[in-house]
Amino acid sequence: MDLFFPKEVKAGESRVSLVPTVASKFVALGAGVTVESGLGAAVKIADSEYEKAGCTITADRKAALAKADMVLRLSAPPDDEISATKKGCIHISYLDPFFHIDRVKKLAEAGTSAICMEMIPRTTIAQKMDALSSQANLAGYVAVLQAVNRLDKIAPMMMTPAGTLSPAKVFIIGAGVAGLQAIATAKRLGARVEAFDTRPVVEEQVQSLGAKFLKIDLGETGQTDGGYAKELTPEQLELQQQAMAKACSQADIVITTAQLFGCKAPVLVKRDVIDGMNPGSVIVDMAAETGGNVEGSKPGEEVEQNGVIIIGARNFAGCVPLDASQMYASNLFNLIDHFWDKEEKTFKLNRDDEIITGSLLTYDGAIVNETIKQKAG
Ligand code: NAD
Repeated sequence: MDLFFPKEVKAGESRVSLVPTVASKFVALGAGVTVESGLGAAVKIADSEYEKAGCTITADRKAALAKADMVLRLSAPPDDEISATKKGCIHISYLDPFFHIDRVKKLAEAGTSAICMEMIPRTTIAQKMDALSSQANLAGYVAVLQAVNRLDKIAPMMMTPAGTLSPAKVFIIGAGVAGLQAIATAKRLGARVEAFDTRPVVEEQVQSLGAKFLKIDLGETGQTDGGYAKELTPEQLELQQQAMAKACSQADIVITTAQLFGCKAPVLVKRDVIDGMNPGSVIVDMAAETGGNVEGSKPGEEVEQNGVIIIGARNFAGCVPLDASQMYASNLFNLIDHFWDKEEKTFKLNRDDEIITGSLLTYDGAIVNETIKQKAG
């Protein structure tokens, strides 16, 4: 089976879909692995490294796309490349399907079997393939470093002959994968950390990392079967915003990570709350790309309001591209390996398996994922 890894073309993408250590594992499965020349340039991996791992290097992207049985990459395919693959080609990448339904329709029209990395189910068995988690983990770490970098204070308590400096106070809103990593990173730096999440199960996880859980009684909140937060009612959201205002006003750093799967992120920190924070404080909005948790934040930009610095996240995992690429490539490999038929040396698209049911969006000319089918209308 021929696997092709094209070079990423999305502007600003610093990660790559394959690293040589993982490439050799694909080769060991018996797959034919072709990579586009320059694939690893963004992380300073030369073509010769992929060659040593057993890959074929090509400069002819168009021909390789047309020949491949599987195309694997990080970003969604550009529209003009969707029909460049052969009918029945299995395409694996991020697809952002809720916000780009036309792209999914085009993939169906092209007869592509499109597997969406964001839709890999959050089950124990699929954890090793879960790119949302692997990248969110790194992003949570980066968020803290970015915030600390812009703060005019230090994070840990410091006792010196010149006096004692108190630790920075960090408030983290949303304690999923990114939020928990942000808590752990801030704790490692010696900050005093408080966190909040609408899912009650998170309280224990926050405390086990040595942080304080802010208790807010919002009534019934809970989580979906997939482990995601349920959307709050407008009344609950209002209550939450008010209850968090004090924690924000006392914090040196606020990091927001609240997301709602397939929907716009909830606005949690409004302008009046920002105005109540001390000048010099820093807010990092990790949901900036999906609508933003913080009023006025802009993805990929830093803005200032009333002396408060607001950093809007954009591809934070891409700030540590080598590790992010290593993890993403491993996620891809684990997915392929899980469904690899070792005798026939092919990827079996087992449509009875819940991982495939959850993540396969298009097949044989149609949209086959129920959630996305509804979205497509
Ligand atoms: P996410 O990125 O969708 O959301 C981030 C966090 O924001 C979540 O914890 C969510 O509860 C929280 N949130 C949403 N609305 C909020 C609000 N109004 N106020 C405060 N917080 C709010 O979630 P995620 O980090 O991808 O993970 C979601 C869950 O899935 C977690 O429980 C995680 O442990 C679980 N998970 C399981 C697996 C697995 O078993 N394979 C893998 C990954 C994640």
